[in-house]
Amino acid sequence: MPEDRLSRHRRLVEADHRHLWHPFTQMQSWLAEEPLVVDEGDGVYLVDTLGRRYLDGVSSLWCNVHGHRVPEIDAAITAQLGKLGHSTLLGLASTASIECAEELARVLPRGLTRIFFSDAGATAVEIALKMAYQHHQLRGDAERSEFVSIRGGYHGDTIGSISVGGIDLFHRIFKPLLFQVNQAPQPYCYRCPLGKRRATCAMECAGAVEEVLERRRGKVAALVVEPLVQGADGMITQPPGYLRRLRELCDRHGALLVCDEVATGFGRTGTTWAVEQEGVTPDILTCAKGLTGGYLPLAATCTTERVFESFLGPHEAQRTFFHGHTYAGNPLACAAAIASLRLLRERRVIEGLPAKAAALADALRPLAEHPRVGEIRQRGLMVGIELVKDRATREPYPYAENVGHRVILEARPLGAILRPLGNVVVLMPPLAMTEAQLRELAGIAGEAIRRATAEA
Ligand code: PMP
Repeated sequence: MPEDRLSRHRRLVEADHRHLWHPFTQMQSWLAEEPLVVDEGDGVYLVDTLGRRYLDGVSSLWCNVHGHRVPEIDAAITAQLGKLGHSTLLGLASTASIECAEELARVLPRGLTRIFFSDAGATAVEIALKMAYQHHQLRGDAERSEFVSIRGGYHGDTIGSISVGGIDLFHRIFKPLLFQVNQAPQPYCYRCPLGKRRATCAMECAGAVEEVLERRRGKVAALVVEPLVQGADGMITQPPGYLRRLRELCDRHGALLVCDEVATGFGRTGTTWAVEQEGVTPDILTCAKGLTGGYLPLAATCTTERVFESFLGPHEAQRTFFHGHTYAGNPLACAAAIASLRLLRERRVIEGLPAKAAALADALRPLAEHPRVGEIRQRGLMVGIELVKDRATREPYPYAENVGHRVILEARPLGAILRPLGNVVVLMPPLAMTEAQLRELAGIAGEAIRRATAEA
C-alpha cells in the first residue's frame, strides 16, 4: 500500500530531527517545533509535504529570480546533463563556463570584463579579498595589506568573509579567529550610530570612512561594501550618494572598491546591479545567488582589465593566483546561469521592475502606520519591515521575544513563507511575482505582523 501523505510527512520530520543540522538555527528550538517540509516548487509558490501552497516570500534564500520549475532553465540543465555534468577549470576550459562568462560579461557594469568563478557568495568574497591584496603586492605596493569594511555588513560565513563582516550577533563569538579589519560606522539612518538626523546630516557616515582611509593611508588594499542595501543586518538602506562618495574616496586613496552584489545583483534592487543607481563601477564585483536564477551553486568575482593585468608578466609563481575550487564553473550551474541570464533579457524582467516595486510599496503603505512598525525600508523587490516595541522611542523588541519568528509562523497559515532577520520582517519575492501576487504577499505580511504583535 502506498504510504499516505501524513505518514510520509511524519517519517521525514522524524528523520530531519534525527540527522539534519540546519544553518543559522538554534537546534534546541528547531527540535521543539514541527517543521514545514518543502516538497515542490511551482512558479512563485512552494508546496509542502501536506499539499499546502505558499507564496515564496523570500525566494528560497533571496536567490529565486524567475520562479520555480522554469521550463527554459529546466531544459537547459537537462540538455547539459546529456553532454557533461562536471569538469574542472584547472588546466582545462569548458564550453558552458566560457559561454556563461560571455553572457555575464554582457550585463556587467562597463569596465568589468574578467570573471573568476566559484560556488558561493562567501567564496566570491574570499576571492575578492585575496585578489585585491595580491594585485597591490604585484604592483609593488607591499604595504597595502588591510581592508576597510562597514559595520553591519554581511559577506558570508567563511573566516575571511566574516572578518570583513560586521554583524555582532553572528560574528562576535568567532572574533579570536578573524583577521583585523578597519570598520567604519553603519549608514543606518533610522538608528544613526553618529546620532545625526537624516534631514540635517552631511553624511558623516561617509566622512567616517574617509577618516579611516586617512588614518590607514597607504595601507588599505580595498574597501568592501554591500552597495545600496546592507541585506543581512536588516535591509539597511544607504542614503543617496553614499556609494558614490565611497568610490571617490577609494580613488583618492588608491584603494580598490569591492562591491558585494551577492544579494543585490540581477535586478533585486530594481536595476540589474545596485551600483548602477549610484553611477558607480567597482574595481571588483561579487555575485552569486540570482546568477543561476537560484537553481545551482555558482558565484563570480568580476574585475577590471587593470586588476587582471597585474597578474600578467613573466611565468613566475608570484603572478599566479593560487586559488580555486573543485566545482568552479560547474557546467550544470553554468547552463542554468546562461538560461537565466537570457530569460532576464528576453522577458525584459528589469524593465518591469519599477511597476512591481511601486505596487509592493503601495500595498505596504497602510502598514507604515502600525504601532509596532518602526520603519519600512525598500529598494526594488528588497524589503525590510523593522518591528519595534515602542514606535515613539524606537525601542527594539528584546531578542528573547523572537518577534520576527512569531510573524513568520503567523504568515504560514495565511499562505506565505517568510524568514525574518531578528526584528526585521524580510520580503524578497522572486522577480517573477506579478503585481497581484506582490500585493497579496504584502497583505499576508501585514496581517501576520498584526497577529504576532497583538499582545497585551
Ligand atoms: N554577501 C552577501 C551580501 C550576502 O547577502 C550573502 C548571503 N546572504 C553572501 C555574501 C554569502 O553568500 P553564500 O550564502 O552564497 O555564501
